Amino acid sequence: MSKVALITGINGQDGSYLSDLLLTKNYKIHGFVRSNFKPNNSKHNWRIKHLLKKIILHKVDINDHTRLKTLIKKIKPDEFYHLAAQSHDGHSFKNEFYTFNMNLNYTHFLLSSVYNANKKTIFFFAASSEMYIKNPKKKINEKTIFNPSSAYGISKLASYYLVKNYRENYNMHASTGILFNHESPIKDDRFVLRKISMSVAKIKYGKQKYLKLGNIKAKRDWGHAKDFAKAMWMMCQQKKANDFIIGTGKLHSVEDFARLAFKSVNLNYKNYIKIEKNLKREKDSNARTADISKIKKILKWKPKINFRNLVLDMVNKDLKRIKK
Ligand code: NAP
Repeated sequence: MSKVALITGINGQDGSYLSDLLLTKNYKIHGFVRSNFKPNNSKHNWRIKHLLKKIILHKVDINDHTRLKTLIKKIKPDEFYHLAAQSHDGHSFKNEFYTFNMNLNYTHFLLSSVYNANKKTIFFFAASSEMYIKNPKKKINEKTIFNPSSAYGISKLASYYLVKNYRENYNMHASTGILFNHESPIKDDRFVLRKISMSVAKIKYGKQKYLKLGNIKAKRDWGHAKDFAKAMWMMCQQKKANDFIIGTGKLHSVEDFARLAFKSVNLNYKNYIKIEKNLKREKDSNARTADISKIKKILKWKPKINFRNLVLDMVNKDLKRIKK
């Protein structure tokens, strides 16, 4: 019999890649979307249009506790992937209360509802490298001390402890994936790498002249969302729940991405980039690198798509979009 998965944030980047993966494994997939989600509106469905006939969507507001509980009881998923979030660290400085309601209260409510509906449901929570210190001297592993410095990081950390509490005190199969940055051709273009890949495509086709960026020296550990979706699924196939760092273990700068992206269309990035002071984040969290020894050892997972191929995938898809 096929397994049933329920995914929050199914129309986000990771929700889409995870659904693609689970379909290859014959899962029946349900997903929660916002109550105003319109399946025929391309602004709402652009990441999951190809999936619409294969998945079941439920419109529900994060504060509609009655409907959330009823849906979870009715769907009774084998695996619950909680991916929905106010996922922009920078925005969380301006929207603290919304960020906490979305990233902490909603997670708490879901954990409790899933547990009460079926104690055997496997629960996955997507946390973040923003839960750690700003200037780590070493790579970050599962034992590194937490020290978040944004509402986003704090809300993810509090939820991490809730998940741990349900695992340790209620015996629930509940795990947290501590995700380092991951990108793809369906990343929101508010995020810098997608802004670059889209701009490269527009510049190549003469629809844009320059690309305005902030701190191009900023470095991150960037992976491909497709690899990360695989890691999430693998975590849920374990006998015992466990938390894992998910990343690549390699740092690259925004400039590295821009150089490769422009080069892939035979342009020199130096001729197209304008540095704007107002685009520099006031409180940019500094470079953190993932130590992925634990997930490599226990799950035998490691990223398959390297940085260069991530760049090429993003630029090529944006070239096709702009050409259309
Ligand atoms: P994403 O593309 O921004 O997707 C977020 C999802 O959450 C979307 O489906 C969004 O729906 C949904 N959502 C946001 N606010 C909502 C609300 N009020 N009600 C219902 N749904 C709401 O993020 P992602 O890249 O897939 O990330 C998945 C998870 O991993 C998130 O929890 C994120 O914090 C975490 N994470 C991501 C990264 C990364 O680099 N991508 C790194 C660390 C952790 P709409 O499209 O309708 O807004």
